[in-house]
Amino acid sequence: MMAKRLSRCPLCGGAVQAIIVKELPRRRPDGTCIVFGDVPATRCASCGEQFFSSEVSLVMHQALSQKKPVKGRIEVPFYRLPTHLRKAAPV
Ligand SMILES: [Zn+2]
Repeated sequence: MMAKRLSRCPLCGGAVQAIIVKELPRRRPDGTCIVFGDVPATRCASCGEQFFSSEVSLVMHQALSQKKPVKGRIEVPFYRLPTHLRKAAPV
């Protein structure tokens, strides 16, 4: 099935381009993290928003809700910034 391709960002009207996201971390409902690899997407050159086809979104949703077995595990270093740097910056 051929998915409809975006030509303009629906959020800001910027130009979009097809990309492959090498690593895409997402949080599961239970709080654990999952990383998707080599995810096809389109990205807005202006605002940076990423968009996924309905088929890709469905498969990621199934994995997030743990309806699909994971393909492997990776170890990821974690670093939390010092408290004084974790405040939201003024806009
Ligand atoms: Zn945009």
